[in-house]
Amino acid sequence: MEGTPFKEGLFTWPLAAGDQPYILGNQCRSCRKIFFPKAAICPDCLVEDKLQELKLSPRGKLYTFTIVRVPSPGFKVPYAFGYIDLPEGLRVCSQISAPEPLEKNLELGLDMELTIGQVREEAGKPIIGYLFRPVKK
Ligand SMILES: [Zn+2]
Repeated sequence: MEGTPFKEGLFTWPLAAGDQPYILGNQCRSCRKIFFPKAAICPDCLVEDKLQELKLSPRGKLYTFTIVRVPSPGFKVPYAFGYIDLPEGLRVCSQISAPEPLEKNLELGLDMELTIGQVREEAGKPIIGYLFRPVKK
């Protein structure tokens, strides 16, 4: 897949064919709290040298979502974004990849899985990011 990641270090990139993608958070070695996106300093322990990178679970449940129908530069409408609850106890904001009609193919509590793909376009070039999509039954 060609493209530029919209932020370095947010997810595993580049990927070889068949690689399981992950979003990358970090964890405080002192209190074990997990952050996504990565925290620079643990807000509880106020330490920065104790955070270690962590691959987060690529599966979760759809907590809520909305469908965007108003065009904005670089985005193809309609598209969905929402919050995914991960088993680690994190709620992650993500663009959602699902077949249309989106309102018929998305529902709260749905099992979702991580994928890496185009999230928008900038000057005609694909910008790559993480998305969650419904797990195929
Ligand atoms: Zn901590």
